[in-house]
This record gives sequence, C-alpha cells and structure tokens, in this order.
Amino acid sequence: DTDALLARRTASFAEVQEHYYEAPPRIERGWREHLVGVDGRAYLDMVNNVTPLGHGHVGVADAVSRQLRRLNTNSRFHYGAVVEYAERLAALAPDPLDTVFLVNSGSEAADLAIRVALAATGRRDVVAILEAYHGWTYASDAVSTSVADNPNALATRPDWVHGVDAPNPFRGVHRGADAARYAPEAAAVIAGLAAAGRPPAAFIAETFFGNAGGIPLPDGYLAEVYAAVRAAGGLAIADEVQAGFGRLGHWFWGFEQQGVVPDVIAVAKAAGNGYPLGAVITTREIAARFRSQGYFFSSTGGSPASSVAGLAVLDAFRDEGLQRNALDVGTRLKHRLEELATRHPLIGAVHGLGLYLGVEFVRDRATLEPATAETAAICDRLLALGVIMQPTGDHQNVLKTKPPLCLDDESADFFVAMLDRVLTEGW
Ligand code: PMP
Repeated sequence: DTDALLARRTASFAEVQEHYYEAPPRIERGWREHLVGVDGRAYLDMVNNVTPLGHGHVGVADAVSRQLRRLNTNSRFHYGAVVEYAERLAALAPDPLDTVFLVNSGSEAADLAIRVALAATGRRDVVAILEAYHGWTYASDAVSTSVADNPNALATRPDWVHGVDAPNPFRGVHRGADAARYAPEAAAVIAGLAAAGRPPAAFIAETFFGNAGGIPLPDGYLAEVYAAVRAAGGLAIADEVQAGFGRLGHWFWGFEQQGVVPDVIAVAKAAGNGYPLGAVITTREIAARFRSQGYFFSSTGGSPASSVAGLAVLDAFRDEGLQRNALDVGTRLKHRLEELATRHPLIGAVHGLGLYLGVEFVRDRATLEPATAETAAICDRLLALGVIMQPTGDHQNVLKTKPPLCLDDESADFFVAMLDRVLTEGW
C-alpha cells in the first residue's frame, strides 16, 4: 500500500532526498494541470514547473516513444534531430548567442555555464546572489546559498564563490525604494574583487528571484551588475532554468524583462517538459575559448530521444499559446490573489509575473515576520482539498505558484477558492 511504499522509499533513499508532504498521495498519472492518485483522486498541480506543456503531453510522449523504438544513442553520432534542435534553440536566443551545449538537467547547465566562464576567462572566482538555487553538482551547488535547501550553505561555500545580497525588494536588506541600492553594492563587490587581484570569471543569477518566491529583480539590476562584471572582464551568466520558456508571460526569457542580454544562458526543466534536457547557450567566441581549456561530452545530452523531446516542446510553444496563456491566466490569477490579500491579513504580498507567482504569508505586515508553520499547514490543508502546493523561500513562507503553463481559468479559480476557504476556515 501507499504507506509501505513510502517506507521502502525512505529505506532505500539517502535521507537528504525529501519528498513533498509528510503523507504524500501516491500518484500514477497526469493530464494537463491535473495529477491523479492511485485511488482515482484528482489533484490540481499548482507547483510543477517541470511540465509547462502539462502532464501527459501527447506530442512529447509520442515523439520520444517513436524515437526510442527507432534509434537512441550518444550525441557523437551524426543524426538529424540534434542538429535541428540545436538550430531551433539557438534561434530563440538573442544575438550574438548562437552556440549550444546540450546536457540533461538544470544543475548540469548551471555547472557547465560556470565552467565555460572559468575556461573562457582563465579565472577562478564567481559572484552569485545570496539565497539563490542553481543546482546540486559541485559548481552549481557552490553558488547556491539558499539556507532552506542547505542550512550550512554559507559556511561550506568554497572560497571562489562571492555572495552579493539577495536583491529582494520585499524582505531583503534593502526594501521598497531602497532596493535600488542592491545593484551598486553588487557592482562594488565585483570592482573590489578586481582591485584585489581576483577579478571574477562571472556573475551568475536567475533573471527573476525564484527562490524568494517569484520576485522580479529591481528595475535595472541586471543591467548594472552585468556592466560591472563585463567592465572587470568577466561574463554574465543567466540561469533561465525556471524563468525562461515563457513562464513570465510577456517575455520568453527572464532577462528580456530586465532589458539585458547575457553572455551565457543555462536552460533546462521546461526544455524537455519533464524529459531530461538542458542546455547552455553562448557565443561562438566564448565557446571557442572553452574548447582550448575544457572538455565537454555528455552521453545523453542531445541524444536522439532528448532532441525530439526538445523539438516537440518547441513545437508546442509555437502552436499551443502557452506563453500567451501564462500572461492571460497568470495576470487574472494574480489579481484574484491580490483580492484575497485584501481580506486575509496573513497574505503579506503576492509576487510575480505570468505564471511564476508567489503568495507570501506573514504574521505581521509591519514586521514581515514569516508565517512559516502556517504555510506548511496551509499546504497540507490545500492537499486535502485537492490542490498540490508547496512552500518556498528561505523562510518557507511563500506558496510556490508555478503551475503548468496550460493552466486554465477554471483551475486558477479553483485554486483561489480553495485558498480562500483554508484562510477563512483555518488550517
Ligand atoms: N537553476 C534553477 C534556477 C533551478 O530552479 C533549478 C531546479 N530547481 C536548477 C537550476 C537545477 O535544475 P535540475 O533540478 O534540473 O538539476
């Protein structure tokens, strides 16, 4: 049964590999924004940014299954799908980014982006935003300092990683209008490193503050920090693993919202709609410099199966109005959540753009004391009402609202109604 299976999972997995909920439902299939348990119960999946096209997407499933039956091999062989995918992915990136490396996950993409920058500059230092998450591999983990993920993240950070304050205009060290101070301060850290003889190879950041619960970076933040890192001879790396692929609605890439073009982009998650696929996109020149100092080969990155998955995802983004839906449904959903905030003081703010939202719970709107225990309890109550939702943020007090981009208004309304009910009835 479900409990016995969970016990087996716990017994065979390393303890660090957590699962959602203390008593999670055992799921067996999914369709669009819905998941279905073995008991036949349906859940609205409001959290799953790995499947922007929705669960059980037929185009991706058919493409991969046909390809696996026909041919799957490593990317050193010559076949059409990977070439077509590399061309179409590169075409989505702004000039002069036209060269791709294909990998399997966001961690690999962030890690490779850092290695590309180290090799291209011949340097070893990297500047990252505090409280960020970029992955679990050595380099991507080193630049991830979210204490919610790893309480020792700051203490165990290698000396080549230099943190700058989390540019959170809601609850960071600088708030509201003061948020304009984050960029000059980050630029000063970069200039300081250069002056101290350790100019950074790169500045890496998500283009939208994902870990804090979907908060747009302060206006002009990336422009100013990218300028500073470039002035110091380093590269600007954009982690688009979450913000990219239309989730923000108006913008296909998160960096467009900030009006900048990075030197290196890391993508994954949405790229394969759940099939493992990630990429680094950069310029020919930077990629060429990596060639002289680094080695890269991924057996399954860009395999025929992952390439056709990626192509099917790009077809869906072209044909299924996902980005437009993220904008339309996301905008309406945000308004409805803001309306809830007028009636429920626990909601301190509704963050985000498109279908990358965050509902932040506070005990006190003046002190912003995070309502951490309440957030966990609310997520449990929502599950009982048929909504899958999880906490995020360093205080675990934000509802991580990142549903599949095919979410319809009816589902969005259901989420709001259930949240209203929990906040009204108690948790
Ligand atoms: N970067 C960001 C911004 C992410 O959110 C994540 C995953 N949550 C990663 C990188 C790592 O991706 P993956 O889990 O596919 O390795």
